Amino acid sequence: MLQQPDEIIYDRRRKRLMVQVLPGGKVVLKAPMGTPRRQINSFLEQHAGWIIEKKALMEMVNPPAQAYRFAEGELIWLAGRQYPLHLTGKGTRGLVFKQGQGFFLASAEQKRGAESLKTYYRETTRKAVTAIAEKYARQWGLQVKSIRITGAKRRWGSCSRQNSLNFSLRLAMVPTEALEYVVVHELAHTRHHDHSYAFWTFLGQMLPGYADQRRWLKQNGLKLPDF
Ligand SMILES: [Zn+2]
Repeated sequence: MLQQPDEIIYDRRRKRLMVQVLPGGKVVLKAPMGTPRRQINSFLEQHAGWIIEKKALMEMVNPPAQAYRFAEGELIWLAGRQYPLHLTGKGTRGLVFKQGQGFFLASAEQKRGAESLKTYYRETTRKAVTAIAEKYARQWGLQVKSIRITGAKRRWGSCSRQNSLNFSLRLAMVPTEALEYVVVHELAHTRHHDHSYAFWTFLGQMLPGYADQRRWLKQNGLKLPDF
């Protein structure tokens, strides 16, 4: 049977068909703009053996990220670094972060660790995202309708037709520069609601060197813990 791709990306700068299998096993086909479906199918047929083999291999590459357990000494991500968690007696409300010391959580609240961490990540992300969005929107004369922080696991950010921006609270875990890239990426979508050449050009003007941050997210995003 023909192995259908999970995603087809049409690109007008592309000259030839190409198939990729990403860590985790997602099959992505890249095609020149306007490639007829039957040409895509015959390409897939020719590469069917390779795709099946590669998929089996790539499915093992990225074992699912480990979930936080909120145990004493466990390392917790914040802005691209890891800090130890300290369980305390009474007196700590929710999850508290102290610069140079790490995270503090009352032992009695250990079971609600995930909730406390989400609250902390949500607030941290909100502050960082808002400051960056305001700065770039002012600088480039862009209009943002609203900013929402979500619990999305696979998506760092999105921009609606009405220019409402969504960002995942998981952005609190990534380096500040990578978070900045995601915010600027979504902001650039308020002008270009697609991934056209014009979009990437505009993004490059707003944030030269964004490719490094994009690569960091691709390489490390799935390795960050679940909770
Ligand atoms: Zn995008």
